[in-house]
Amino acid sequence: MADVDVCVVGAGFAGLTAALRLVQAGRTVAVLEARDRVGGRTFTDSLGNGSYIDRGGAWVGPTQDRIHALMDEFGVPSYKQFNEGANLVVLDGKPHRYKGTVPLKLGPWVTANMGIAFLNLERLCRSIPVNEPWNAPNAAEHDATTLATWLKGNVYSKPAHDLLETGVAGCYTSAASEVSLLFVLFQMASGGGPRFVLGVENGSQDARPVGGMGAIYRPIADYLGERIHLNQPVRSITQDADGATVRAESTTVRASRVIVAVPIAIASHILFDPQLPVDRAMLHQRMPGGSIMKVAAIYDEPFWRADGLTGLSASPGTAAPVTIDACTASGKPGILCVIVEGPNCRRLGRMTESDRRQAILSDLAIRFGPKAANPVDYHEQDWTLERYSGGGMLSHAPTGVLTEFGPALRAPCGRIHWAGTESSPVMCGWVDGAVRSGERAAHEVIDLAYA
Ligand SMILES: Cc1cc2nc3c(=O)[nH]c(=O)nc-3n(C[C@H](O)[C@H](O)[C@H](O)COP(=O)(O)OP(=O)(O)OC[C@H]3O[C@@H](n4cnc5c(N)ncnc54)[C@H](O)[C@@H]3O)c2cc1C
Repeated sequence: MADVDVCVVGAGFAGLTAALRLVQAGRTVAVLEARDRVGGRTFTDSLGNGSYIDRGGAWVGPTQDRIHALMDEFGVPSYKQFNEGANLVVLDGKPHRYKGTVPLKLGPWVTANMGIAFLNLERLCRSIPVNEPWNAPNAAEHDATTLATWLKGNVYSKPAHDLLETGVAGCYTSAASEVSLLFVLFQMASGGGPRFVLGVENGSQDARPVGGMGAIYRPIADYLGERIHLNQPVRSITQDADGATVRAESTTVRASRVIVAVPIAIASHILFDPQLPVDRAMLHQRMPGGSIMKVAAIYDEPFWRADGLTGLSASPGTAAPVTIDACTASGKPGILCVIVEGPNCRRLGRMTESDRRQAILSDLAIRFGPKAANPVDYHEQDWTLERYSGGGMLSHAPTGVLTEFGPALRAPCGRIHWAGTESSPVMCGWVDGAVRSGERAAHEVIDLAYA
């Protein structure tokens, strides 16, 4: 049995960063990771020709300073997201070109509706104290309201409603009826507001690390070396007066402290002994993951660029609701990323692989022309099926959860400390939030030694 100062459960960005900071502070650490790889909800996969795709988290924004600090520390540069030309929005089967975050040329009624709803969302986000959203003005009212109810009461034009629903509910990879308005406001506020969340330039899709997210997590894993134990799903954590015993598939670790950095949606798969306090245990039952499929359609060239298009497009309700240019820094090959979320993702997941591919490529061809129907390569990643993610992109709070159980998100339970992007008051749901949570949990443990 390994005997260390701290056992970290999960080697996504939260767990890796926690372990990194602890080792740098001179602590002995063991990291137990369920999968046969590190990275968790990020996964940079080689295409075998020097190119790669990011199957999970990919983009970074300029205000995400903790992931940028980590990139600087490991010498990973970034490159700007391609954003020259027009975006496309498809309504009633007709593509419209637009620039910026919100399409503003869809007729005065649609435009006014979109604009006012967006401003209202921004105003509400500004009222949220991100460290304690459960104490926001009108927190109880917002937490008793679903995003669907809010959209219905605030957006009267159908195209505006459908677009906002695709954009906003899409962030939670769920139907708008599944998510609490308070959680939406908190999560958007944690990123600086809806313009950041939905934006490309200066927004959350501003840039990408050269080499993908793997260019960051691989050197951290190399630094941690044999401290990381792969293929070790943790089954139980037992606390006693002197320490904690963490039992995984074929490894047992004894530690003074444990940092649990798994998605909250699947934290209850671990048996905690003694049982966790009620608020924390209930939180584990009440924050489900969403559904998201990321598809990479690969072409010899990014042909949409020559057609004056950014590659960013939205077409609510289709098999390809959102697309974005996902080329590497070299711009070749052309990689068009399709993002399918929530009920749409589950619907596609029930189709056969060939029917799904056909449906997605047909929709791309309607939007980008016949070239889009014939990619040279094609990859799908359905995070709904990932046992050790419990869905993606993030675990969300349905109604009533944040106000009742929110304070348990970060509160340590005896020797157990909590990390993971869902526990971060800043950039909750992003890789940057994961990094922040890992650093916060590591500091909790380090500070204890001097308390
Ligand atoms: C399709 C998709 C697109 C996204 N796009 C972006 C983006 O562009 N930019 C961005 O910033 N964010 C994005 N995100 C979100 C981002 O990827 C996550 O916020 C971040 O990776 C979460 O990191 P984490 O360490 O908190 O959790 P995870 O990455 O989920 O790490 C948890 C780790 O715990 C392991 N684990 C689970 N259970 C156990 C167990 N019982 N025992 C041991 N180990 C266990 C898992 O295998 C995993 O490695 C996206 C996510 C998805 C899925």
